[in-house]
Amino acid sequence: MDKIILDKSASQWIREYPVIGDLMGYKPVFWINEGMDNTGNAISELPVTVEDMINAENRLHRFAPLIRRLFPETADREGLIESELVQIEKMKNSLQSVYNQVFRGGLMLKCDNYLPVAGSIKARGGIYEVLTHAEDIALKNGMIDMDDDYSRMAEPEYKKFFGKFSLAVGSTGNLGLSIGIMGSALGFKVTVHMSADAKEWKKNLLRSKGVNVIEYSSDYSKAVEEGRKQSLQDPDSYFVDDEHSKNLFLGYSVAAFRLKRQLGDHGITVDKDHPLFVYLPCGVGGAPGGICFGLKQVFGKYVHIFFAEPTHSPCMLLGLAAGENDRLSVQDFGIDNVTDADGLAVGRPSAFVGRMVEKLLGGIYTVEDSELFKLLAMMKDEEGIKIEPSGTPGLLGPIWLEGSSEGKMYINANGLETGMKNAAHIAWATGGLFVPETMMQEFYGRGKRIIAQQEKNAT
Ligand SMILES: *Cc1c(COP(=O)(O)O)cnc(C)c1O
Repeated sequence: MDKIILDKSASQWIREYPVIGDLMGYKPVFWINEGMDNTGNAISELPVTVEDMINAENRLHRFAPLIRRLFPETADREGLIESELVQIEKMKNSLQSVYNQVFRGGLMLKCDNYLPVAGSIKARGGIYEVLTHAEDIALKNGMIDMDDDYSRMAEPEYKKFFGKFSLAVGSTGNLGLSIGIMGSALGFKVTVHMSADAKEWKKNLLRSKGVNVIEYSSDYSKAVEEGRKQSLQDPDSYFVDDEHSKNLFLGYSVAAFRLKRQLGDHGITVDKDHPLFVYLPCGVGGAPGGICFGLKQVFGKYVHIFFAEPTHSPCMLLGLAAGENDRLSVQDFGIDNVTDADGLAVGRPSAFVGRMVEKLLGGIYTVEDSELFKLLAMMKDEEGIKIEPSGTPGLLGPIWLEGSSEGKMYINANGLETGMKNAAHIAWATGGLFVPETMMQEFYGRGKRIIAQQEKNAT
């Protein structure tokens, strides 16, 4: 009954870290990260720098003419894959009334649900890593010079060249889409190892692009492990390692440079009297971790970052709260890692990301699946915006921050009370563009039914 996990019994773990008891009971929690440190100190200790981010941004600019040629839908941004930042005032009002909680400041949505090419936040990290690898081998083999016009790489001789190489990745769906779509557009042979969570339509879309999809009946960690093992056996195969990749992380991080400009365009300043709060859905951690790191580089201590995880897959929260990173999985504690948020269905976090964010992150909250569908339906009704279930939980951030004792403690401990009326809250939407309409209708219907049922129960 009292199982030994690492070196302690389950009940000892709970005694030391009471939040683990709540996680085991699937109870939604708002966990404040007591390990958060002075931003300057925390950043200076990390093995990734702002120069790395600038190099990444420059690389994406080198590739922009090629992206534009391969994916004409990126023409209005000259081949940069970027999303809009929009005010969602109606959603703010609706959230306040549905959750019976007022919050101060404005609410905005970062629309990575509409990111072109891959249809999710994975268009940032996944595509960046494919491009980095393509550039590497093209340079090494004398196929290209760094000051060439990279749009040349769309020509048949390059497709033939890249066709000699393979890419492989393990995924719950969206990372596979991003690697598969970009990899096959360049000519690579791509193999995607899909966990049981991956939706059928994502596999079909990949197969239609000539990607080799291998299906597993187990979860994400297993799909990654198998993919890594198989890829290692082929010297011409490159494995995109979501659990350890610095390139993925850097691809995500440059979102911060772009967000800074977009906030400026909206006339929003970020300083001591104008705090910025950003809420990001978290799976293995790469996407929210990279963006967290980037935002801290750009906005320093004036940005406050929170991750959101499903109550059934709180892997990053578990890893950080217990200070063990990937040494613990949610399954060790009997938490089942079964969620409709396929993009977040991860039971063991990335240790690399855990170490990168452990002193930067404000906290993590967990969200029940029913709330994801509710938020999806509300966003459709209030703003006409389409988001997949995994992409919605950032919207609950301001409710937790202002409506929980932990949130109030965070505000006070960081001297934020007087600035709260000027706060900018950004919910980071992370996926949705490619979800088939019939599925979206089903999700929407489910959300509407949950809302109706809760209203009925309340009266
Ligand atoms: C992958 C994904 C995330 C989280 O990114 P991680 O790098 O796994 O933490 C969030 N939302 C969606 C829709 C995703 O596909």
